[in-house]
Amino acid sequence: MAKFRTLDDLGDVTGKVALVRVDLNLPMQDGAVTDDTRVRASAPTILELADKGAKVLLLAHFGRPKGARNSEQSLSMVVGAVQDVLGREVMFVPEVAGDIVAQSVGILRAGDIAILENTRFWPGEEKNDPELAKAIAANGDFFVNDAFSAAHRAHATTEGLARILPAYAGRSMQGELEALDAALGNPAKPVAAVVGGAKVSSKLDVLKHLVTQVDHLIIGGGMANTFLAARGVNVGKSLCEHDLTGTAEQILDTADKSGCTVHLPYDVVVSKEFAANPSSLRTCNVHEVAADEMILDVGPAAVEALGDVLKTCRTLVWNGPMGAFETQPFDAATVALARTAAALTREGSLVSVAGGGDTVAALNHAGVAGDFSYISTAGGAFLEWMEGKELPGVAILLKD
Ligand code: ADP
Ligand code: MG
Repeated sequence: MAKFRTLDDLGDVTGKVALVRVDLNLPMQDGAVTDDTRVRASAPTILELADKGAKVLLLAHFGRPKGARNSEQSLSMVVGAVQDVLGREVMFVPEVAGDIVAQSVGILRAGDIAILENTRFWPGEEKNDPELAKAIAANGDFFVNDAFSAAHRAHATTEGLARILPAYAGRSMQGELEALDAALGNPAKPVAAVVGGAKVSSKLDVLKHLVTQVDHLIIGGGMANTFLAARGVNVGKSLCEHDLTGTAEQILDTADKSGCTVHLPYDVVVSKEFAANPSSLRTCNVHEVAADEMILDVGPAAVEALGDVLKTCRTLVWNGPMGAFETQPFDAATVALARTAAALTREGSLVSVAGGGDTVAALNHAGVAGDFSYISTAGGAFLEWMEGKELPGVAILLKD
């Protein structure tokens, strides 16, 4: 992987001002933060900089305020949650640039931490306006990006600042980049990808890219139905994008030419209604799905065979559940395959990287999230990386 600077490359930062881009786009309900995972992800970076004596100014967006200030989306609301995670007092500054920030920097002592206001209150943020970046940079000595989840956007505080100030990857960003490199950049082979989820249409670019990169592509979830339909299988009432069967055929064709083996389920779990433990539940061969049935999970025989595929692989990248895992018993294939991947990872024979909102929920449900080599919570940025796209917030860090 191209080199990027990390906190290890910082000289003496005592009294210097670190502008640190983090992810504080926290889920809230009735004014309270309901999940502080994103704060915990950046806590090591923030505390390391503070302990090295920097004055730490946190930059983050919250929601989509569309370039105007509003009281409902002020980052002042997350100060308490950030203090709780860090175990330190945190100052709030209601601006991102200008005199008020300069005065606050004057008040802060070495090792103090402040949160600046929601960067998206300023239209220049999402436009990556160099004037806004310059104004923010004027109050800092160096820039640290610790928000991989925002790195697929070229915004003033994800890309613009790195053009102006010496820029470093924070520990969370560093961990993410190293894990992603181990999974697809420079992986130990053979490589398997599991792609599932509801629809082919949401992951076309992921599939197109992966077939040129991996040795085994395991397709599950609702999107497998479109591929099965492309192969002439009657999928009954299943979720299926019939208008995309041509595209699915093209993907299978590219896979063939690239030496990628595509694995589609050959047995499936079907039901007449989409409900928990339905009376019409049964397992059958993909060629035996009735016109009034829908495929809601990959079948046990296919799952066992897929486990055997993983045993021959050294690297796994996973996005998307194998079935409608939120509803029992359609979680079975996802849970079983996740447990196989976790066991192989524990044994040291597999590097496993997974990402995606529902995927992370599914792996937590299977109780194995902690056993994977790396779990990305980055959402959109993770998917764009799986599509092989250059992420502007990462690319600028890789430049010398
Ligand atoms: P992620 O958020 O990890 O990227 P997706 O959002 O693409 O994953 O897909 C997750 C959704 O796909 C889940 O809500 C799950 O219920 C649904 N899904 C998986 N398999 C099926 C299926 N066979 N039929 C209908 N929905 C499915
Ligand atoms: Mg999802």
